[in-house]
Amino acid sequence: MSEADCIFCHIVAGTKPCHKVLESDSVLCFMDVFPATEGHTLVIPKQHFETVFDISEAAMQAVAAAVRRVAGAIRGELSPDGITIAQVNGAAAGQTVMHYHVHLLPRTEGASMRLHGSTKADPARLDELAGAFAARL
Ligand code: 5GP
Ligand code: ZN
Repeated sequence: MSEADCIFCHIVAGTKPCHKVLESDSVLCFMDVFPATEGHTLVIPKQHFETVFDISEAAMQAVAAAVRRVAGAIRGELSPDGITIAQVNGAAAGQTVMHYHVHLLPRTEGASMRLHGSTKADPARLDELAGAFAARL
């Protein structure tokens, strides 16, 4: 997949909309439109890297710092029983968007989860969550 075809590069460029939580020079965080759990959030480097094997150390550190901040905001807003932080590399591992990204998945005690949600979220609810998380950063 080239950068021209990459959904996440389009989101970074602003040619595709997103429900934004956080943006810095190097990182973007936004709501997953097919949430596996309520509050499912993604953190990506703005620069296109496919996997952990391609990403620069600096970009990975910037993503990790954002993940840490956003996890705190999610916990503050939703008080989940736990948060799964997941990152997959390659189709065999379940990667469907070939632009490095980290999933933050609020979890409820006893509820099973698959990484990929099947239902598109209500955009109004995603706006509400993105705004609430952003306000807690
Ligand atoms: P992966 O399967 O590659 O680990 O995760 C890709 C994630 O991106 C999935 O959770 C999927 O729901 C999400 N996703 C796919 N297309 C879009 C999109 O256009 N916008 C947003 N916000 N998320 C997307
Ligand atoms: Zn990309």
